[in-house]
Amino acid sequence: MRKETIVENLNAVGERIVTCCNNCDRDPAEITLLAVSKTRPAEDLRSAYTAGQRHFGENYLQEALEKQDALSDLDIRWHFIGPLQSNKSRAVAERFQWIHTVDRLKIAQRLSSQRPDTLAPLNICLQVNIDNEQSKSGIAPQELEGLAREVVQLPGLRLRGLMAIPAARPNRQAQRKPFIELARLLQSLREAFPEEQLDTLSMGMSADMEAAITCGATIVRIGTDIFGVRNYPE
Ligand SMILES: *Cc1c(COP(=O)(O)O)cnc(C)c1O
Repeated sequence: MRKETIVENLNAVGERIVTCCNNCDRDPAEITLLAVSKTRPAEDLRSAYTAGQRHFGENYLQEALEKQDALSDLDIRWHFIGPLQSNKSRAVAERFQWIHTVDRLKIAQRLSSQRPDTLAPLNICLQVNIDNEQSKSGIAPQELEGLAREVVQLPGLRLRGLMAIPAARPNRQAQRKPFIELARLLQSLREAFPEEQLDTLSMGMSADMEAAITCGATIVRIGTDIFGVRNYPE
């Protein structure tokens, strides 16, 4: 995509965040825009970077590693947001600052033991299957606290909060329901683990960003509205 278009799109998303925050009485500084760049060439990330974008989210490990190599001259914060097979955890432990999709202890243990001592602990969000969908990854809400109890013991990880990808819904009012539920789950984790830095709600994509912000999102994950419609299968 043209660099100018990416820059315009980024500015438009930034303005939507500010407008939405004004309407729901939040501070836009609390919200991190994560540019979801899966399927996009490295040059598109570079265009976004020139406009000030620093956080990028990738879903496919091999593709992400290639872009990291191509963009190693840039100070990018890399977030892994796709499903992770346990035999591929090492590259995430070594080359990302965040992972949003941890939903089982085995992956968490591997990421912790593979995180290099020379790096800060890996920031993680636990992914919650908030709509109880058979097809989706994520831990069931009833099992969340038990998993969190194990994860906070792992020295290579820092548990930061929760992530969810709700089922599509037709309007903002309906979209709010799963986000309110995720925010409630984070609040109960805070009460269970008061010593942890549980400050992150990773929720909201292009179609439901505003609903997520009104419910307390601190990271919004936006692909299409920055880089355009993805035209090859994910
Ligand atoms: C692709 C993807 C996004 C971005 O979705 P858009 O609708 O293109 O904004 C956000 N989060 C995750 C986990 C994704 O896989």
